[in-house]
Amino acid sequence: MEEFIAKCQHCGNETSQHILHQEIQAAEGFDSIGHTLSYLDYLCFTVCKTCKNYSFFSIVDGNVGNEFSLYPLEQSIHISIPEAVRKAYNEALRVKKVSPSAFLMLIRKSLEIICKEKDAKGGNLKQKIEYLNKMGQIPKLISDVANSTRSLGNLGAHELHFDWKNKDVEIINDLFQALIEFLYIIPYKLSKLTKKI
Ligand SMILES: [Zn+2]
Repeated sequence: MEEFIAKCQHCGNETSQHILHQEIQAAEGFDSIGHTLSYLDYLCFTVCKTCKNYSFFSIVDGNVGNEFSLYPLEQSIHISIPEAVRKAYNEALRVKKVSPSAFLMLIRKSLEIICKEKDAKGGNLKQKIEYLNKMGQIPKLISDVANSTRSLGNLGAHELHFDWKNKDVEIINDLFQALIEFLYIIPYKLSKLTKKI
């Protein structure tokens, strides 16, 4: 294999990664029910044909489609996140580097989906977030996080020429992560733990 198609974490494109160096090593991991899995880890140092930046991929058993970018580190979305939220957020992550305004719009869309999924009442997104707080589904701090993300998402939608810095995009991503961590990931982990007690 001299090259493979994978999402570049630098430019965000599904693009050809030319392999500069490759090592194969035996590795072990666990499946979802705790069984040990043995596999071959194909470690590839690549250069992106689109943006010319370097990446480092791990490919399970060398099967393209099972690759994971170790550098720059790829963000994976937790299993507990509902499908519709995951789809919208995945889409947001895909465009994060290439179009900050599209990223913001998709984060806003993800918030709308979360509110719908949580059955939040209200005429607009702000009221729906407040409703979730009032009903005790999210604490004040998390509703503030959702609201900041929401208002910045509005800016993204309406001021396409607004000068977004990558730093701002990363802050919004961190805030959104905190929100889904609280709403889905922590309850999921807690349920796994309480099953064992
Ligand atoms: Zn690239």
